[in-house]
Amino acid sequence: MSHDAPANSSASNKLVIRNIGLLLSGDIDRPILDADTVVSVDGVIQSIGKEKDVDVSGAATTVDAKGTALAPGLIDSHVHPVCGDWTPRQNQLGWIESCLHGGVTTMVSAGEVHTPGRPKDIVGLKAMAIFAQRAFQAFRPGGVKIYAGAPVLEQGMVEDDFRELAEGGVKFLGEVGLGSVKDGTTGRRMVAWARKYGIQSTIHTGGPSIPGSSLIDKDMVLETDADVIGHVNGGHTALPDDQIKELCERSPRALEIVHNGNERAGLLALRTAKDLRQMRRVILGTDSPAGSGVQPLGILRMISMLSSLGEIPTEVAICLATGNTAKMRNLNCGLIAPGREASFVFLDIAQQSAGKNLLDSIQKGDLAGLGMVITDGAVSIQRSRNTPPATRVPEVVKR
Ligand SMILES: [Zn+2]
Repeated sequence: MSHDAPANSSASNKLVIRNIGLLLSGDIDRPILDADTVVSVDGVIQSIGKEKDVDVSGAATTVDAKGTALAPGLIDSHVHPVCGDWTPRQNQLGWIESCLHGGVTTMVSAGEVHTPGRPKDIVGLKAMAIFAQRAFQAFRPGGVKIYAGAPVLEQGMVEDDFRELAEGGVKFLGEVGLGSVKDGTTGRRMVAWARKYGIQSTIHTGGPSIPGSSLIDKDMVLETDADVIGHVNGGHTALPDDQIKELCERSPRALEIVHNGNERAGLLALRTAKDLRQMRRVILGTDSPAGSGVQPLGILRMISMLSSLGEIPTEVAICLATGNTAKMRNLNCGLIAPGREASFVFLDIAQQSAGKNLLDSIQKGDLAGLGMVITDGAVSIQRSRNTPPATRVPEVVKR
C-alpha cells in the first residue's frame, strides 16, 4: 500500500521515518495502517507505505523508528494560555513545553480567561483576542502550535464585531458562558454570527469552574448550539447523568471530554457515544492550566483511562486525541495521511509494564513511553523527560 501526494521528492527538507513497528493513523475509520515508512517534505506528509514502495532517496533527515509505534502528534482541544509559556493560574513557567513531553503538538485555546485584568469591554476583548492570536502564532514553545486568540462572549457584541475578529485572524471563541452572556437566546445568536464568519465556538458545560463563574445546564447548551460541547464531563463539576446523556443524544456537536473533569461522567459520555455509534464526535482536552494544575501527561492519561475503563481499543482511543479533534476543529494535523502536517509522536511500551505490547499496556491502564516528537517535519525532542521510559526509542540516523 502506498499513498502519494505530489511534491518534490529530492527537497533538502525531506524527512524519512523508517522501520515503524505500528502505524497509528489517527483516523477512526482505519486506525491502523499496514505501513512501515512515512516521508514528509517541507513539513507536510508526502507518502506512507512499505519502504520498498516509497521514494526514500535524497532525505535530509532519516529517523530509524526502531520498531516503535508512530502516531500523529496529540491535540489538546481545551487549554487556557495567557501569554508566553507562563500561566498565572498556578504561577508556572514552561507548562506548554512540558506538555510537548507528553506528546502534545497542537493546542486549541478555549479562551485566555486567566489573563490578569482581562478586559471585558468589547474593544478591549477584541484587542486581546487579536493580540493572543498573533503572539502564539509567532511563539511555539518547543514547537507546540497554539491556536489562541479566543474571545469570550460579552453582552453588547454585534455581528460586526465577529466580522472584525475573523478579519483579524480569530478562528475560535472562548468558552461561551465564561463572560456576561449566560442565556441561550443571546448565546445562540452570537454563536451563529461567529459561525457565519468562520469562527468556531465552544460552550462551558456543567457547574462553575471557579468562584465567579456559573452553571451551564443542558438547556443552555442545546439552545446555544455551539460547535463543541466543551468538557461534557464538567470542568470539574459535571451535569447530572440524564443531562449528559441527553446532550449526547440530542445534539450533533462535538463531545469534548477533559482531564480536569469528572472521570465517571467522562466514561458515561464515552459509553453513550459508543452506544449511539457516534464515537467520531468524541474529542479530548485537558482544560489546563486549572485548579488541579497543569497536566503535561493529561492527554496520554485520558487515552489510557478511556481505553482501560471505557473498554475501547487503544488505537481508537488515540483517534479521540488526534484525528477526531482535527476533523471536528478543522485542523490540518491529527492524521497520518498525505497532505497533513508532519507532526508525530513515537510511542513504545513503558519499561516493565505488565502489558504484552504497547496497545495492550495502554488498555491495561499504563501510560505509553514517548521516545521522540516531531513537529512540522523537524525533530523537537527525543526521549521524553515526563513519560515513563519507553522500552525502545527511535534514533536520528542521518541529519
Ligand atoms: Zn469551562
